[in-house]
Amino acid sequence: MPAIEPKPHQDLNPLSDPDFRATTRHWIEANYPPHLRNPQRRLHIAEGRPWYDALSRQGWLAPNWPREHGGMGLSPAKHLILIEELERHGAARLPDQGITMVGPLLIRHGTEAQRAYHLPRILSGEIIWCQGYSEPDAGSDLAALRTSAVREGDEWVINGQKIWTTLGMDGDWIFVLARTDAQAPKQKGISFFIMPVTTPGIEIRPILNLDGHDEFCEVFFHDVRIPADSIVGEVNQGWTIAKNLLGFERIFLGSPFQATGALDHLMRLICHLGRQDDPAIRAMLNELRMELEDHKSLYTTFANQVRRGESLGPDVSMLKINLSALYQKITDRMIAIAGEHAALLDPLQDDQSLYPASAFIQARPHSIYGGSSEIQKNIVAKHVLGLSETMR
Ligand SMILES: Cc1cc2nc3c(=O)[nH]c(=O)nc-3n(C[C@H](O)[C@H](O)[C@H](O)COP(=O)(O)OP(=O)(O)OC[C@H]3O[C@@H](n4cnc5c(N)ncnc54)[C@H](O)[C@@H]3O)c2cc1C
Repeated sequence: MPAIEPKPHQDLNPLSDPDFRATTRHWIEANYPPHLRNPQRRLHIAEGRPWYDALSRQGWLAPNWPREHGGMGLSPAKHLILIEELERHGAARLPDQGITMVGPLLIRHGTEAQRAYHLPRILSGEIIWCQGYSEPDAGSDLAALRTSAVREGDEWVINGQKIWTTLGMDGDWIFVLARTDAQAPKQKGISFFIMPVTTPGIEIRPILNLDGHDEFCEVFFHDVRIPADSIVGEVNQGWTIAKNLLGFERIFLGSPFQATGALDHLMRLICHLGRQDDPAIRAMLNELRMELEDHKSLYTTFANQVRRGESLGPDVSMLKINLSALYQKITDRMIAIAGEHAALLDPLQDDQSLYPASAFIQARPHSIYGGSSEIQKNIVAKHVLGLSETMR
């Protein structure tokens, strides 16, 4: 039973953690659109809109924004519980760049006018944001970005190209890192800009992923003129303010949720194929179950740090490395036992909840986004193990 029936915008921090969990679990079960549970692919905003609107009306869209800016003002511990409950229910990830990145960044570094215009529009879903950081030759080495912003009178003129812009076709505004000083050391000559994607000179081209889904875009900037006040923070401070965003949220990249869902998918596939009594399959499943338990225990170690109010160190990179490897291993096994079904991206004809080939493909990018596994290993090597460049 829920501890309380939460009113829209009610402050839930006074609840105990168990009461908060019961309350959020009940509310999510009662309000999440059933047809959107555990979606096979990343949803476009048109598909996710009913859920965005429900969260918006309840005041639950922005768990970690301060309450004076329309957020829930949750403690990290309660935010963690909310995420766990959303994942447990199979809630889809919304186009959330405005909520997780732009909002917090404007709250810390924006002008009063930027905050007054944008924060309410993020919270109402009137403006959906997309992230223009990566470029064809600047991904892991993002500071090598070449998109330029040149000041001309009262305007900035942007030229260049971004790539891998998740759901860029759904965005109303884009936030962009661009070079404002070509002579400065590379991290020091970058600034942070915001602009509507309808600004003349911006061209957006969808890219299909391996799964045939238009998940990404390329975004081209041809002499794009934006007003001088489209910059956030100071000129050449873009790198610093963008980096400051990474807080305890890094733990979510290593949440056991995706591996748990994939293992459940694998077990259902095995039963569907009638292989559940095969001793080799049972041994394989037991091994994966134990590895998942190991991962959950690693996650709990970091989650407890968050609950105690401690900040996460560079060792949290281990969580994402481990999760990526496990998630991909589970879907590798799915392909290995799927037989002829491994060749088809579509769900199985006689059970639409099974789609092994698509699940395999969806697990691949986990070791790329949010810092690739190799980059995370470099972080662990350097900042946790203290290995020098030459030793590596
Ligand atoms: C699902 C998904 C969503 C994304 N969404 C967005 C988005 O919305 N906006 C956005 O701006 N970007 C987005 N990206 C891009 C993402 O940030 C980049 O793909 C990522 O930073 C890697 O950059 P890259 O693709 O250029 O690969 P590269 O950096 O070229 O890396 C290629 C390979 O080399 C390895 N490598 C690179 N440098 C080193 C090193 N120093 N040591 C060891 N190995 C190294 C990498 O690990 C990788 O295996 C998304 C990517 C994915 C997969």
